[in-house]
Amino acid sequence: MTAWQDALFAPRRVAIVGASATPGKAGHLFLSNLAKPETGFAGEIIAIHPSATEVLGYPSYSSLVLAPQPVDLAIVVTPLAAIPGVIEDCGRASVPVAVVITGGFAETGPQGAELQRDVVQAAAAGGVRLVGPNCFGVINTATGLNASLSIGLPAKGGVSLITQSGAYGMAAYSRSIDEGAGFAKIIALGNKAGVNEADLLEFFARDPETKVVAMLLESISDGRKLFDTAAATQKPIVALKTGRSPNAQRAAASHTAALSSDAAVALAALRQAGVHVVEDGLTLLDVAASLARQPPLRGRRIGVITNSGGTGVELTDLLESKGLAVPVLSPTLQAAIAAALPPHGSAVNPIDVTTEWSRFAAMYDASVDALMNSDEIDAVVPVLLQRSALMPEVADAIIAATERARGGGVTKPVHVCWVAPRTAEANREKLLAAGIPCHYWPAATAANLAATSARAPCPRPTLSAGGLIPVPASIDAGGWVGSAEAFSLLQQGGFPVARWAIVADAIQAANVADEIQYPVVLKAERSGLVHKSDAGAVRVNLADRAAVAQAFTDFCEKFGSGPALIQQQVRPGVELVVGTRRDKSFGPVVMAGLGGVWIEALNDVALRLAPIGDDEASSMFDELKGRKLLSGFRGRPPISLPRLAQLIASLSRWFCAAPWLDELDLNPVIAEGDALIIVDARMRAIPHSIHA
Ligand code: ADP
Ligand code: MG
Repeated sequence: MTAWQDALFAPRRVAIVGASATPGKAGHLFLSNLAKPETGFAGEIIAIHPSATEVLGYPSYSSLVLAPQPVDLAIVVTPLAAIPGVIEDCGRASVPVAVVITGGFAETGPQGAELQRDVVQAAAAGGVRLVGPNCFGVINTATGLNASLSIGLPAKGGVSLITQSGAYGMAAYSRSIDEGAGFAKIIALGNKAGVNEADLLEFFARDPETKVVAMLLESISDGRKLFDTAAATQKPIVALKTGRSPNAQRAAASHTAALSSDAAVALAALRQAGVHVVEDGLTLLDVAASLARQPPLRGRRIGVITNSGGTGVELTDLLESKGLAVPVLSPTLQAAIAAALPPHGSAVNPIDVTTEWSRFAAMYDASVDALMNSDEIDAVVPVLLQRSALMPEVADAIIAATERARGGGVTKPVHVCWVAPRTAEANREKLLAAGIPCHYWPAATAANLAATSARAPCPRPTLSAGGLIPVPASIDAGGWVGSAEAFSLLQQGGFPVARWAIVADAIQAANVADEIQYPVVLKAERSGLVHKSDAGAVRVNLADRAAVAQAFTDFCEKFGSGPALIQQQVRPGVELVVGTRRDKSFGPVVMAGLGGVWIEALNDVALRLAPIGDDEASSMFDELKGRKLLSGFRGRPPISLPRLAQLIASLSRWFCAAPWLDELDLNPVIAEGDALIIVDARMRAIPHSIHA
C-alpha cells in the first residue's frame, strides 16, 4: 500500500480545516461526525481555525503549517477562495492527502474551473494527493473513520463503494441499517480533479478488507486504466454508469464514431472486463451486497422452490427474460425431490411444495439440499410467500441446507425471493445475517440474481513489438486517407478487399473494367466526399464498356473532373460493418455489426476495447439483434463466423499498430458463406500526425 491510500483510509492524525463550533456549518458537521465516540475512531483529531485554540474540545491551530506533525489527512471545508492556500499549506506541512469537500469549482462554470486548476496546481507542486473537490468525504468502517457527510458509520462488511455522487454515500448507510448490507470503505470523488476511480479500484483490488467493489460513475477519468485494472482482478466489481443518453457532440462523419458514443464504449468496456453492470443505484448497492454474501452466478440454470405456483410462474418468466433458464429437472432428480413432497406437489422446476405447511421446513430443506448437490442447477431460489416466510423453522431449514452444501464444497449461490408481511421481517433478518440475500418479490429477485452473473474476461492478445503501419502520403485537410492508399494498406495487412483500381479518364475506366470482369462498380473519388452513395457517387451494375465510360463522364459533370475508383462487383450477401476508433479515455475500440447503407437506422453493433482475440470477437455476435442474418436465412448459406471473428480480431490488432490512425470504417464488408469482401474503406488520420 502506498502512502496516500494509507493516509486516506487509516490516518493517525486528521485535521479538519475550517472546523467550526457552530451547528449547521460543514466544519461542525465533519468534526462532530469524526468525533462520535460510537464509531471508535482512534486517530488524533485536530482543528484548523483562524483564531480558536480549541474547537469542540479539540486543539486548534491557525494553519496546518503550525500544527503538530505529521498530519496524514486534511479534510477541507473552508470557503472556496481559501482553498488554494490551504492546499499550499498541505504541501508545506507534508500532508500526503487532502479531501476537499467544498463545492463551487468546475461544476459551476469557467470561473470555478479556473479555481479548480489553481487547486490542482497547488496539490501537484506540494506533492499532495487531492480527493474531490465538491465531494462527500471518506469512510472506513475498520478504523471507525467517518470523515463524511454521512449521519452514521455503516455496518462493517465486504463492500467498498466508489461514488461520484455523495447521495450514494448516504444511501449506503441506509442500506446498511435497513438491509444489513456491510461496507468496508466508502469514498466519494466529486469533481475528480485528482484521485480518480481507476486509482481507487487499483487500491481496492488489493485491499484485504474489500471483497466486492461497487462503483457509481457519472464520468470516467481514465478508461483504459479502469479497464485494465478491472480485467486483472478476481474480485467482483459492480458498476452503474449514469449519463448514458447519446453524446450529441461527436461529429457523425464516420459510422464508428456515431455508433460508439462515450457511454456505449464505457458500458462495453466494463462488460468486457467482467464487471457486473447494473442500470440503477439501488440495484448497484443490492447486487454488491449479494456478491458479498454469495458467490457470483456461474451458469444460467436456476432451480426455484415455491409454496405458491403463481409466484413460481412469474419468477420463471422474469428469470427467462433476463437470459436465465428454469429447466425441467431430470427424472432421477425429480424422483429424489418428489419423495419429500405430497403427491400433488411438483418436482419439475419450479418445485411446488403445495400448501401443506406443516411439512414446509422438511420440504424446503430436502429441495435446497437436492438442488445444491445436483449439477443440473447453477443457483437455488427458494420463494418464501406468506406462511412459509412467517415460519422461523423454514428460514432455519434453508440456512442449514445451504450451510451443509457449503461444507461439502458447493459454491453455487442461494437467493431467497421474499413475499411476506412486515411481521415476518425477523425471519428475513435471520436469513440476511446468515448471508442469504432476500429480495422483495420476483422482479427484484430476477434482476439481482441475473446481475450477479458476469462473463469471464477473454484472454487478451499481446501485440508484437515493432511492425508499425506506415503513415500514408496522401491525407487531405480533414485527415481522410485516399481510397488507393486505404485499400493498399488493407491489402498489405492481409485483409480481403474487392479487386480495385483508380482510373483517370473514361477510356481507362472502360479498359480496366474489361480486365476486372463485368458487372463493375464505379465510385467518384474526390476529397471531402465521404458519404458517397448519398451524393450519387456510387454506380453499381455497370455491365459493359459503354456504361462504365458514361458513369465516369457523369461523375465529371456532377463533381468536376477527377479520378474514380473502379471495383469488381461483389455478389450480394449480408452487409457488415467492422470499424475501429480511438476513444479519448478508453483508447482503441473495435466495432462490428450489421452495416451497409442502413447502418445508422439499425444501430446494431457490438463494441470492444482493442486489441482482441478471436474468442472475444466471436462473443460480439451474440449481442447483435440481427444475429440470425449471420446464420443463413431464406436459403442463403450461413456466414463463416470463425472467419468473421478472425477479420475483426486482426483488424483490432492492425489498428493498434497504426497509432497515426484515428478511425477506420469498413462498411460494408459483404459476407456470403465463406467469402468476406471489403468494398468500402474509410480511414481518417489523427489531425496532428498529418503534418508529422
Ligand atoms: P458509401 O458508404 O460512401 O455510400 P459504398 O462504397 O459503401 O459508399 O457503397 C454504397 C453501397 O453500394 C454499399 O453499401 C453496397 O451496398 C454497394 N456497393 C459498393 N461497392 C460495391 C461492390 N464493389 N460490390 C457490390 N456492392 C457494392
Ligand atoms: Mg460505405
